[in-house]
Amino acid sequence: MSRMPSAERLPVDRVECARCRMLISNEAGSAQIVSADTDTRFYDDVGCLAADWAGHAGGDHAFVRVATGAWIDAADAVYARPAAVRTAMGSGLVAYRSPADAAGASTLTFEDVVRGAHQ
Ligand SMILES: [Zn+2]
Repeated sequence: MSRMPSAERLPVDRVECARCRMLISNEAGSAQIVSADTDTRFYDDVGCLAADWAGHAGGDHAFVRVATGAWIDAADAVYARPAAVRTAMGSGLVAYRSPADAAGASTLTFEDVVRGAHQ
């Protein structure tokens, strides 16, 4: 059994989104993929993470930053598109620790989000 990796601190204003290459200037809505083989890849938007995730498997782990500031496993989070929220790249997707945190918005699983990114 390999040890579960943990999320890394995001170097705000010093790293580009691994998908769209925009400088990440805000931790809100960000995400990352931690891999045993390569450097951690950071994302400025859950949509960018989802678009890249299909190419990752095996020992890679995706994390998303929830509103409380914690990083949690992307597969454990739920996702919604609150009407008032604009995300860095316009996916509108916000990660939450639980459906209750999404305040009644209909929620998606990480699987749903990844599938949606490839439609
Ligand atoms: Zn991006």
